[in-house]
Amino acid sequence: MLDHLTFTSPEPKTIAGAKGDWELVIGLEVHAQVASKAKLFSGASTEFGAEPNSNVAFVDAAMPGMLPVINEFCVAQAVRTGLGLKAAINLRSAFDRKNYFYPDLPQGYQISQLYHPIVGEGEVIVDMAPGVARRVRIERIHMEQDAGKSIHDMDPNMSFVDLNRTGVALMEIVSRPDIRGPEEAAAYVAKLRQIMRYLGTCDGNMQNGNLRADVNVSVCPPGAYEKYQQTQDFSHLGTRCEIKNMNSMRFIQAAIEYEARRQIAILEDGGSIVQETRLYDPDKGETRSMRSKEEAHDYRYFPDPDLLPLEIEQAWVDAIEADMPELPDEKKARFVKDMGLSEYDAGVLTADVENANYFEAVAQGRDGKMAANWVINELFGRLNKEGLGVETSPISAAQLGGVIDLIAKGDISGKIAKDLFEILWTEGGDPAEIVEVRGMKQVTDMGAIEAAVDEIIAANPAQVEKAKANPKLAGWFVGQVLKATGGKANPAAVNKLVAEKLSR
Ligand code: ADP
Ligand code: MG
Repeated sequence: MLDHLTFTSPEPKTIAGAKGDWELVIGLEVHAQVASKAKLFSGASTEFGAEPNSNVAFVDAAMPGMLPVINEFCVAQAVRTGLGLKAAINLRSAFDRKNYFYPDLPQGYQISQLYHPIVGEGEVIVDMAPGVARRVRIERIHMEQDAGKSIHDMDPNMSFVDLNRTGVALMEIVSRPDIRGPEEAAAYVAKLRQIMRYLGTCDGNMQNGNLRADVNVSVCPPGAYEKYQQTQDFSHLGTRCEIKNMNSMRFIQAAIEYEARRQIAILEDGGSIVQETRLYDPDKGETRSMRSKEEAHDYRYFPDPDLLPLEIEQAWVDAIEADMPELPDEKKARFVKDMGLSEYDAGVLTADVENANYFEAVAQGRDGKMAANWVINELFGRLNKEGLGVETSPISAAQLGGVIDLIAKGDISGKIAKDLFEILWTEGGDPAEIVEVRGMKQVTDMGAIEAAVDEIIAANPAQVEKAKANPKLAGWFVGQVLKATGGKANPAAVNKLVAEKLSR
Protein backbone atom coordinates (compact mmCIF):
# COMPACT_ATOMS: atom_id res chain seq x y z
CA MET A 1 0.00 0.00 0.00
CA LEU A 2 2.79 2.40 0.87
CA ASP A 3 5.08 1.26 -1.92
CA HIS A 4 5.07 4.77 -3.35
CA LEU A 5 7.17 5.91 -0.37
CA THR A 6 10.92 5.82 -0.07
CA PHE A 7 11.96 5.22 3.49
CA THR A 8 15.18 7.07 4.18
CA SER A 9 17.73 5.87 6.66
CA PRO A 10 18.09 8.20 9.63
CA GLU A 11 19.62 11.41 8.47
CA PRO A 12 20.44 13.19 11.68
CA LYS A 13 20.78 16.88 12.05
CA THR A 14 24.48 17.45 12.63
CA ILE A 15 25.68 20.44 14.57
CA ALA A 16 29.31 21.43 14.27
CA GLY A 17 30.70 22.20 17.71
CA ALA A 18 34.00 23.92 18.38
CA LYS A 19 35.73 20.56 18.69
CA GLY A 20 33.78 18.32 16.34
CA ASP A 21 30.41 17.22 15.01
CA TRP A 22 27.45 16.27 17.15
CA GLU A 23 24.22 14.50 16.30
CA LEU A 24 20.78 15.02 17.83
CA VAL A 25 18.64 12.32 19.40
CA ILE A 26 15.05 13.15 20.29
CA GLY A 27 12.19 11.24 21.88
CA LEU A 28 8.73 12.74 22.41
CA GLU A 29 6.02 12.18 24.97
CA VAL A 30 2.89 13.64 23.42
CA HIS A 31 -0.16 14.31 25.58
CA ALA A 32 -3.31 14.22 23.51
CA GLN A 33 -6.64 15.09 25.06
CA VAL A 34 -9.25 12.51 24.16
CA ALA A 35 -12.08 14.06 22.16
CA SER A 36 -14.79 13.09 24.62
CA LYS A 37 -17.69 15.05 26.06
CA ALA A 38 -17.16 13.57 29.53
CA LYS A 39 -14.06 13.04 31.68
CA LEU A 40 -12.13 9.80 32.12
CA PHE A 41 -13.62 8.84 35.49
CA SER A 42 -16.64 11.14 35.85
CA GLY A 43 -19.57 12.43 33.86
CA ALA A 44 -18.48 16.06 34.14
CA SER A 45 -18.23 18.00 30.89
CA THR A 46 -14.91 18.66 29.16
CA GLU A 47 -16.11 21.81 27.41
CA PHE A 48 -13.29 24.30 26.85
CA GLY A 49 -13.62 27.82 28.21
CA ALA A 50 -16.46 27.10 30.63
CA GLU A 51 -16.88 29.18 33.81
CA PRO A 52 -14.04 28.17 36.21
CA ASN A 53 -14.89 25.21 38.46
CA SER A 54 -18.25 24.65 36.78
CA ASN A 55 -17.35 21.31 35.20
CA VAL A 56 -16.31 19.46 38.31
CA ALA A 57 -17.88 16.25 39.59
CA PHE A 58 -17.40 15.25 43.24
CA VAL A 59 -14.86 12.62 42.21
CA ASP A 60 -12.85 15.23 40.24
CA ALA A 61 -12.68 17.36 43.37
CA ALA A 62 -11.64 14.27 45.36
CA MET A 63 -14.52 14.47 47.80
CA PRO A 64 -14.21 11.72 50.41
CA GLY A 65 -15.88 8.47 49.49
CA MET A 66 -16.19 9.24 45.77
CA LEU A 67 -15.12 6.48 43.41
CA PRO A 68 -13.90 6.73 39.82
CA VAL A 69 -15.93 5.00 37.10
CA ILE A 70 -14.14 4.43 33.83
CA ASN A 71 -15.55 6.05 30.69
CA GLU A 72 -15.81 3.31 28.05
CA PHE A 73 -15.85 5.85 25.23
CA CYS A 74 -12.43 7.20 26.26
CA VAL A 75 -11.01 3.69 26.36
CA ALA A 76 -12.34 3.10 22.86
CA GLN A 77 -10.64 6.29 21.64
CA ALA A 78 -7.29 5.14 23.03
CA VAL A 79 -7.72 1.78 21.32
CA ARG A 80 -8.70 3.51 18.09
CA THR A 81 -5.58 5.69 18.30
CA GLY A 82 -3.45 2.62 18.94
CA LEU A 83 -4.90 0.87 15.90
CA GLY A 84 -4.25 4.02 13.87
CA LEU A 85 -0.58 3.78 14.84
CA LYS A 86 -0.53 0.09 13.85
CA ALA A 87 0.16 -0.71 17.48
CA ALA A 88 -0.40 -3.74 19.66
CA ILE A 89 -3.52 -3.42 21.84
CA ASN A 90 -3.18 -4.84 25.33
CA LEU A 91 -6.38 -6.63 26.31
CA ARG A 92 -5.39 -6.23 29.93
CA SER A 93 -4.11 -2.91 31.27
CA ALA A 94 -4.18 -1.33 34.69
CA PHE A 95 -4.27 2.05 36.38
CA ASP A 96 -1.67 3.21 38.88
CA ARG A 97 -1.50 6.12 41.25
CA LYS A 98 1.29 8.61 40.68
CA ASN A 99 1.49 10.43 43.99
CA TYR A 100 2.46 14.04 44.25
CA PHE A 101 1.12 17.21 45.79
CA TYR A 102 -0.01 20.16 43.77
CA PRO A 103 -2.88 22.59 44.48
CA ASP A 104 -4.55 21.77 41.17
CA LEU A 105 -4.52 18.04 41.95
CA PRO A 106 -6.97 17.60 44.82
CA GLN A 107 -6.61 13.81 44.94
CA GLY A 108 -2.93 14.09 45.74
CA TYR A 109 -2.23 11.62 42.95
CA GLN A 110 -2.73 11.30 39.23
CA ILE A 111 -4.34 8.12 37.92
CA SER A 112 -2.14 6.88 35.08
CA GLN A 113 -0.96 3.62 33.54
CA LEU A 114 2.72 3.12 34.31
CA TYR A 115 3.18 -0.62 34.43
CA HIS A 116 0.47 -1.87 32.09
CA PRO A 117 -0.43 0.58 29.33
CA ILE A 118 -3.42 -0.06 27.09
CA VAL A 119 -1.39 0.26 23.87
CA GLY A 120 2.01 -1.25 23.14
CA GLU A 121 4.48 -0.85 20.29
CA GLY A 122 3.49 0.87 17.09
CA GLU A 123 4.89 3.29 14.55
CA VAL A 124 4.39 6.65 12.92
CA ILE A 125 5.43 7.24 9.34
CA VAL A 126 6.79 10.76 9.29
CA ASP A 127 6.68 12.60 5.99
CA MET A 128 9.95 14.39 5.30
CA ALA A 129 9.42 15.43 1.67
CA PRO A 130 6.97 14.34 -1.03
CA GLY A 131 7.44 10.57 -1.33
CA VAL A 132 10.12 10.44 1.35
CA ALA A 133 9.33 9.17 4.83
CA ARG A 134 10.85 8.03 8.11
CA ARG A 135 9.56 5.49 10.57
CA VAL A 136 9.46 6.53 14.22
CA ARG A 137 8.74 3.73 16.67
CA ILE A 138 6.07 4.18 19.30
CA GLU A 139 6.87 2.58 22.62
CA ARG A 140 3.43 2.78 24.20
CA ILE A 141 0.26 4.79 24.68
CA HIS A 142 -1.21 4.99 28.12
CA MET A 143 -4.31 6.68 29.46
CA GLU A 144 -4.20 9.11 32.31
CA GLN A 145 -6.16 11.99 33.80
CA ASP A 146 -5.22 15.62 33.35
CA ALA A 147 -4.65 17.93 36.31
CA GLY A 148 -6.41 21.24 36.91
CA LYS A 149 -5.00 24.67 36.24
CA SER A 150 -3.35 27.06 38.67
CA ILE A 151 -3.74 30.68 37.68
CA HIS A 152 -1.03 32.95 39.06
CA ASP A 153 -1.48 36.07 36.97
CA MET A 154 -4.99 37.25 37.88
CA ASP A 155 -4.18 38.74 41.26
CA PRO A 156 -0.94 40.16 42.73
CA ASN A 157 -1.32 38.32 46.03
CA MET A 158 -3.36 35.22 45.29
CA SER A 159 -3.30 32.19 43.06
CA PHE A 160 -6.51 30.62 41.80
CA VAL A 161 -7.28 27.03 40.95
CA ASP A 162 -9.63 25.97 38.16
CA LEU A 163 -10.57 22.29 38.33
CA ASN A 164 -12.47 22.15 35.03
CA ARG A 165 -9.62 20.30 33.42
CA THR A 166 -9.09 17.93 36.35
CA GLY A 167 -9.84 14.38 35.30
CA VAL A 168 -10.05 15.02 31.57
CA ALA A 169 -8.80 11.95 29.66
CA LEU A 170 -5.36 12.15 28.10
CA MET A 171 -3.50 9.71 25.91
CA GLU A 172 0.24 9.86 26.44
CA ILE A 173 1.97 8.70 23.30
CA VAL A 174 5.62 7.84 23.95
CA SER A 175 8.06 7.56 21.05
CA ARG A 176 11.38 5.79 20.98
CA PRO A 177 14.34 8.15 20.61
CA ASP A 178 14.14 7.80 16.82
CA ILE A 179 13.74 11.45 15.93
CA ARG A 180 16.94 13.04 14.67
CA GLY A 181 16.31 16.74 14.22
CA PRO A 182 14.01 19.71 14.97
CA GLU A 183 12.14 19.59 11.65
CA GLU A 184 11.62 15.89 12.06
CA ALA A 185 10.21 16.43 15.56
CA ALA A 186 7.72 18.94 14.22
CA ALA A 187 6.85 16.64 11.31
CA TYR A 188 6.30 13.82 13.80
CA VAL A 189 3.90 15.88 15.92
CA ALA A 190 2.14 17.05 12.77
CA LYS A 191 1.69 13.47 11.60
CA LEU A 192 0.35 12.30 14.96
CA ARG A 193 -2.04 15.23 14.99
CA GLN A 194 -3.16 14.46 11.45
CA ILE A 195 -3.80 10.79 12.21
CA MET A 196 -5.76 11.58 15.39
CA ARG A 197 -7.86 14.17 13.57
CA TYR A 198 -8.69 11.58 10.90
CA LEU A 199 -9.61 9.14 13.66
CA GLY A 200 -11.56 11.79 15.55
CA THR A 201 -9.83 10.77 18.79
CA CYS A 202 -8.21 14.17 19.52
CA ASP A 203 -9.02 17.52 17.97
CA GLY A 204 -5.33 18.43 17.89
CA ASN A 205 -5.96 21.97 19.09
CA MET A 206 -2.50 22.92 20.32
CA GLN A 207 -3.47 26.45 21.28
CA ASN A 208 -5.99 25.16 23.82
CA GLY A 209 -3.40 22.70 25.09
CA ASN A 210 -5.31 19.70 23.75
CA LEU A 211 -2.08 18.47 22.17
CA ARG A 212 1.24 19.15 23.88
CA ALA A 213 4.60 17.49 23.97
CA ASP A 214 7.42 16.82 26.39
CA VAL A 215 10.54 16.88 24.26
CA ASN A 216 13.56 14.78 25.30
CA VAL A 217 16.83 15.90 23.73
CA SER A 218 20.35 14.51 23.88
CA VAL A 219 23.44 14.84 21.72
CA CYS A 220 26.04 12.24 20.78
CA PRO A 221 29.08 11.96 18.54
CA PRO A 222 28.54 10.59 15.01
CA GLY A 223 28.24 6.80 14.99
CA ALA A 224 26.91 6.46 18.53
CA TYR A 225 23.27 6.27 17.47
CA GLU A 226 24.03 3.40 15.08
CA LYS A 227 25.42 1.47 18.03
CA TYR A 228 22.24 2.19 19.99
CA GLN A 229 20.17 1.01 17.04
CA GLN A 230 22.06 -2.25 16.77
CA THR A 231 21.94 -3.03 20.49
CA GLN A 232 19.03 -0.92 21.83
CA ASP A 233 21.48 -0.11 24.61
CA PHE A 234 20.81 3.41 25.83
CA SER A 235 24.32 3.78 27.24
CA HIS A 236 25.50 4.60 23.70
CA LEU A 237 23.35 7.74 23.82
CA GLY A 238 24.01 10.95 25.65
CA THR A 239 22.18 12.02 28.80
CA ARG A 240 18.90 13.69 27.91
CA CYS A 241 17.01 16.68 29.16
CA GLU A 242 13.24 16.89 28.95
CA ILE A 243 11.60 20.11 27.86
CA LYS A 244 8.09 20.14 29.31
CA ASN A 245 4.72 21.08 27.92
CA MET A 246 5.40 22.44 24.46
CA ASN A 247 2.31 23.37 22.49
CA SER A 248 3.66 25.04 19.37
CA MET A 249 5.45 23.43 16.45
CA ARG A 250 7.64 26.47 16.06
CA PHE A 251 8.69 26.52 19.71
CA ILE A 252 9.35 22.76 19.68
CA GLN A 253 11.88 23.30 16.92
CA ALA A 254 13.46 26.36 18.47
CA ALA A 255 13.71 24.68 21.89
CA ILE A 256 15.41 21.58 20.45
CA GLU A 257 17.89 23.69 18.54
CA TYR A 258 18.71 25.77 21.62
CA GLU A 259 18.88 22.79 23.96
CA ALA A 260 21.22 20.82 21.67
CA ARG A 261 23.64 23.74 21.41
CA ARG A 262 23.52 24.26 25.17
CA GLN A 263 24.42 20.60 25.77
CA ILE A 264 27.20 20.66 23.16
CA ALA A 265 28.77 23.71 24.78
CA ILE A 266 28.77 22.00 28.19
CA LEU A 267 30.21 18.74 26.84
CA GLU A 268 32.93 20.45 24.82
CA ASP A 269 33.84 22.39 27.92
CA GLY A 270 34.55 19.11 29.69
CA GLY A 271 31.31 19.16 31.67
CA SER A 272 28.53 16.59 31.78
CA ILE A 273 24.79 16.84 31.22
CA VAL A 274 22.57 16.57 34.25
CA GLN A 275 19.33 14.76 33.47
CA GLU A 276 16.63 17.27 34.28
CA THR A 277 13.32 18.76 33.34
CA ARG A 278 13.53 22.13 31.64
CA LEU A 279 11.10 24.79 30.50
CA TYR A 280 11.28 26.72 27.26
CA ASP A 281 10.93 30.48 27.45
CA PRO A 282 9.68 31.66 24.05
CA ASP A 283 10.46 35.31 24.82
CA LYS A 284 14.11 34.61 25.51
CA GLY A 285 14.37 31.63 23.13
CA GLU A 286 16.04 29.66 25.92
CA THR A 287 15.40 26.60 28.04
CA ARG A 288 15.92 26.80 31.79
CA SER A 289 16.04 24.23 34.54
CA MET A 290 12.77 23.39 36.30
CA ARG A 291 13.82 20.42 38.40
CA SER A 292 16.60 17.88 38.21
CA LYS A 293 15.99 14.15 38.13
CA GLU A 294 17.95 13.74 41.41
CA GLU A 295 15.52 15.87 43.34
CA ALA A 296 12.56 14.51 41.37
CA HIS A 297 9.70 13.37 43.53
CA ASP A 298 9.39 9.77 44.41
CA TYR A 299 5.99 9.21 42.90
CA ARG A 300 5.40 5.97 44.83
CA TYR A 301 3.48 4.42 41.98
CA PHE A 302 1.13 1.65 43.00
CA PRO A 303 -1.95 0.03 41.43
CA ASP A 304 -5.03 2.13 42.10
CA PRO A 305 -7.18 0.10 44.51
CA ASP A 306 -10.32 1.93 43.37
CA LEU A 307 -10.08 0.59 39.83
CA LEU A 308 -10.06 -3.00 38.68
CA PRO A 309 -7.56 -3.89 35.98
CA LEU A 310 -9.04 -2.95 32.64
CA GLU A 311 -9.94 -6.01 30.61
CA ILE A 312 -11.24 -5.61 27.10
CA GLU A 313 -12.25 -8.29 24.62
CA GLN A 314 -10.65 -8.94 21.27
CA ALA A 315 -14.12 -8.84 19.67
CA TRP A 316 -14.60 -5.29 20.99
CA VAL A 317 -11.21 -4.27 19.57
CA ASP A 318 -12.12 -5.92 16.26
CA ALA A 319 -15.35 -3.94 16.13
CA ILE A 320 -13.39 -0.70 16.60
CA GLU A 321 -10.97 -1.80 13.90
CA ALA A 322 -13.80 -2.59 11.50
CA ASP A 323 -15.03 0.97 11.94
CA MET A 324 -11.69 2.70 11.23
CA PRO A 325 -11.67 5.42 8.59
CA GLU A 326 -9.15 5.51 5.77
CA LEU A 327 -5.98 7.05 7.23
CA PRO A 328 -3.86 9.78 5.62
CA ASP A 329 -1.10 7.54 4.23
CA GLU A 330 -3.59 5.18 2.64
CA LYS A 331 -5.70 8.01 1.31
CA LYS A 332 -2.66 9.73 -0.16
CA ALA A 333 -1.52 6.50 -1.80
CA ARG A 334 -4.98 6.03 -3.29
CA PHE A 335 -5.07 9.58 -4.67
CA VAL A 336 -1.69 9.01 -6.35
CA LYS A 337 -2.55 5.57 -7.68
CA ASP A 338 -6.20 5.87 -8.67
CA MET A 339 -6.45 9.53 -9.61
CA GLY A 340 -2.97 10.04 -11.02
CA LEU A 341 -2.25 12.94 -8.67
CA SER A 342 1.32 13.94 -7.89
CA GLU A 343 2.70 12.97 -4.50
CA TYR A 344 2.84 16.64 -3.64
CA ASP A 345 -0.78 17.40 -4.57
CA ALA A 346 -1.99 14.26 -2.80
CA GLY A 347 -0.07 15.43 0.27
CA VAL A 348 -1.70 18.85 0.21
CA LEU A 349 -5.17 17.38 -0.23
CA THR A 350 -4.81 14.86 2.60
CA ALA A 351 -2.97 17.13 5.06
CA ASP A 352 -6.16 17.74 6.96
CA VAL A 353 -9.17 15.48 7.16
CA GLU A 354 -11.59 18.35 6.41
CA ASN A 355 -9.66 19.25 3.26
CA ALA A 356 -9.56 15.63 2.15
CA ASN A 357 -13.31 15.25 2.66
CA TYR A 358 -13.99 18.41 0.68
CA PHE A 359 -11.77 17.27 -2.17
CA GLU A 360 -13.33 13.83 -2.28
CA ALA A 361 -16.78 15.37 -2.56
CA VAL A 362 -15.57 17.50 -5.49
CA ALA A 363 -13.74 14.64 -7.20
CA GLN A 364 -16.61 12.17 -6.81
CA GLY A 365 -17.58 11.13 -10.36
CA ARG A 366 -15.29 13.75 -11.93
CA ASP A 367 -11.77 13.93 -13.27
CA GLY A 368 -9.47 13.71 -10.24
CA LYS A 369 -6.66 15.84 -11.64
CA MET A 370 -9.03 18.58 -12.70
CA ALA A 371 -10.72 18.49 -9.31
CA ALA A 372 -7.32 18.63 -7.56
CA ASN A 373 -6.28 21.58 -9.66
CA TRP A 374 -9.40 23.57 -8.83
CA VAL A 375 -9.41 22.68 -5.16
CA ILE A 376 -5.71 23.41 -4.59
CA ASN A 377 -5.06 26.36 -6.86
CA GLU A 378 -8.36 28.22 -6.83
CA LEU A 379 -10.13 27.24 -3.65
CA PHE A 380 -7.26 26.67 -1.17
CA GLY A 381 -5.37 29.58 -2.70
CA ARG A 382 -8.31 31.87 -2.08
CA LEU A 383 -9.12 30.47 1.37
CA ASN A 384 -5.50 30.99 2.44
CA LYS A 385 -5.54 34.52 1.18
CA GLU A 386 -8.67 35.29 3.17
CA GLY A 387 -7.52 33.39 6.24
CA LEU A 388 -10.42 30.93 6.02
CA GLY A 389 -10.62 27.18 6.48
CA VAL A 390 -12.43 24.75 4.23
CA GLU A 391 -15.22 24.36 6.81
CA THR A 392 -16.06 28.04 6.38
CA SER A 393 -15.57 28.12 2.61
CA PRO A 394 -18.13 30.32 0.84
CA ILE A 395 -18.08 27.84 -2.05
CA SER A 396 -19.36 24.36 -1.27
CA ALA A 397 -17.95 21.18 -2.76
CA ALA A 398 -21.19 20.80 -4.75
CA GLN A 399 -20.80 24.30 -6.23
CA LEU A 400 -17.16 23.77 -7.18
CA GLY A 401 -18.10 20.40 -8.67
CA GLY A 402 -20.72 22.23 -10.71
CA VAL A 403 -18.07 24.58 -12.12
CA ILE A 404 -15.93 21.61 -13.14
CA ASP A 405 -18.93 19.93 -14.80
CA LEU A 406 -19.56 23.03 -16.90
CA ILE A 407 -15.92 23.07 -18.07
CA ALA A 408 -15.99 19.36 -18.79
CA LYS A 409 -19.18 19.73 -20.85
CA GLY A 410 -17.55 22.52 -22.84
CA ASP A 411 -20.17 25.01 -21.63
CA ILE A 412 -17.55 27.40 -20.27
CA SER A 413 -13.84 27.97 -20.87
CA GLY A 414 -11.26 27.88 -18.09
CA LYS A 415 -11.13 31.64 -18.16
CA ILE A 416 -14.89 32.10 -17.76
CA ALA A 417 -14.79 29.45 -15.05
CA LYS A 418 -12.59 31.76 -13.01
CA ASP A 419 -15.14 34.55 -13.39
CA LEU A 420 -17.83 32.11 -12.33
CA PHE A 421 -15.72 31.12 -9.31
CA GLU A 422 -15.56 34.79 -8.35
CA ILE A 423 -19.34 35.17 -8.60
CA LEU A 424 -19.91 32.05 -6.52
CA TRP A 425 -17.42 33.29 -3.92
CA THR A 426 -19.07 36.67 -3.47
CA GLU A 427 -22.71 36.04 -4.36
CA GLY A 428 -23.24 32.29 -4.13
CA GLY A 429 -25.80 30.54 -6.33
CA ASP A 430 -26.08 27.63 -8.69
CA PRO A 431 -23.21 27.52 -11.22
CA ALA A 432 -25.24 26.23 -14.17
CA GLU A 433 -27.99 28.77 -13.55
CA ILE A 434 -25.55 31.68 -13.28
CA VAL A 435 -23.91 30.71 -16.58
CA GLU A 436 -27.34 30.46 -18.26
CA VAL A 437 -28.82 33.66 -16.87
CA ARG A 438 -25.72 35.81 -17.36
CA GLY A 439 -24.99 34.53 -20.85
CA MET A 440 -21.58 33.18 -19.91
CA LYS A 441 -21.88 30.10 -22.06
CA GLN A 442 -18.99 29.38 -24.35
CA VAL A 443 -19.68 29.98 -28.02
CA THR A 444 -19.19 26.69 -29.76
CA ASP A 445 -21.34 27.76 -32.68
CA MET A 446 -18.72 27.48 -35.42
CA GLY A 447 -20.57 29.95 -37.64
CA ALA A 448 -20.35 32.69 -35.02
CA ILE A 449 -16.70 32.00 -34.31
CA GLU A 450 -15.88 31.96 -38.01
CA ALA A 451 -17.56 35.33 -38.47
CA ALA A 452 -15.43 36.78 -35.69
CA VAL A 453 -12.25 35.30 -37.17
CA ASP A 454 -13.07 36.64 -40.64
CA GLU A 455 -13.73 40.08 -39.23
CA ILE A 456 -10.35 40.27 -37.46
CA ILE A 457 -8.49 38.96 -40.49
CA ALA A 458 -10.20 41.46 -42.79
CA ALA A 459 -9.41 44.35 -40.48
CA ASN A 460 -5.68 43.54 -40.18
CA PRO A 461 -4.16 42.83 -43.62
CA ALA A 462 -0.61 43.76 -42.57
CA GLN A 463 -0.70 41.36 -39.60
CA VAL A 464 -2.03 38.64 -41.91
CA GLU A 465 1.00 38.96 -44.21
CA LYS A 466 3.37 38.73 -41.23
CA ALA A 467 1.56 35.75 -39.78
CA LYS A 468 1.66 33.92 -43.08
CA ALA A 469 5.43 34.26 -43.07
CA ASN A 470 5.74 33.39 -39.41
CA PRO A 471 3.00 31.01 -38.15
CA LYS A 472 3.98 31.75 -34.54
CA LEU A 473 2.19 35.08 -34.89
CA ALA A 474 -1.16 33.31 -35.31
CA GLY A 475 -1.55 33.56 -31.57
CA TRP A 476 -2.22 37.26 -31.90
CA PHE A 477 -5.35 36.54 -33.99
CA VAL A 478 -6.54 33.94 -31.49
CA GLY A 479 -6.18 36.50 -28.74
CA GLN A 480 -8.11 39.11 -30.71
CA VAL A 481 -10.97 36.70 -31.43
CA LEU A 482 -11.20 35.66 -27.77
CA LYS A 483 -11.23 39.30 -26.78
CA ALA A 484 -13.92 40.15 -29.32
CA THR A 485 -16.13 37.33 -28.03
CA GLY A 486 -15.62 38.24 -24.39
CA GLY A 487 -13.62 35.07 -23.75
CA LYS A 488 -16.61 32.94 -24.58
CA ALA A 489 -15.35 31.46 -27.85
CA ASN A 490 -14.00 27.94 -27.50
CA PRO A 491 -10.20 28.48 -27.67
CA ALA A 492 -9.52 25.16 -29.38
CA ALA A 493 -12.00 25.96 -32.13
CA VAL A 494 -10.56 29.46 -32.58
CA ASN A 495 -7.02 28.10 -32.85
CA LYS A 496 -8.04 25.64 -35.48
CA LEU A 497 -9.97 28.17 -37.56
CA VAL A 498 -7.26 30.84 -37.42
CA ALA A 499 -4.62 28.34 -38.51
CA GLU A 500 -6.83 27.20 -41.40
CA LYS A 501 -7.61 30.70 -42.62
CA LEU A 502 -4.02 31.92 -42.41
CA SER A 503 -2.73 28.96 -44.36
CA ARG A 504 -4.93 29.82 -47.33
P1 ADP B 1 11.11 8.34 31.83
O1 ADP B 1 10.12 7.28 32.19
O2 ADP B 1 12.17 8.55 32.83
O3 ADP B 1 10.49 9.60 31.36
P2 ADP B 1 11.44 6.97 29.33
O4 ADP B 1 12.34 5.81 29.09
O5 ADP B 1 10.00 6.70 29.42
O6 ADP B 1 11.94 7.75 30.61
O7 ADP B 1 11.72 8.00 28.17
C1 ADP B 1 10.97 9.13 27.99
C2 ADP B 1 11.22 9.65 26.59
O8 ADP B 1 12.59 9.99 26.44
C3 ADP B 1 10.93 8.67 25.48
O9 ADP B 1 10.23 9.34 24.46
C4 ADP B 1 12.29 8.25 25.01
O10 ADP B 1 12.29 7.94 23.63
C5 ADP B 1 13.12 9.47 25.26
N1 ADP B 1 14.55 9.20 25.46
C6 ADP B 1 15.10 8.25 26.22
N2 ADP B 1 16.44 8.34 26.19
C7 ADP B 1 16.75 9.37 25.38
C8 ADP B 1 17.99 9.97 24.96
N3 ADP B 1 19.16 9.52 25.35
N4 ADP B 1 17.91 11.04 24.13
C9 ADP B 1 16.72 11.52 23.73
N5 ADP B 1 15.55 11.00 24.10
C10 ADP B 1 15.55 9.94 24.92
MG1 MG C 1 8.54 10.34 31.03
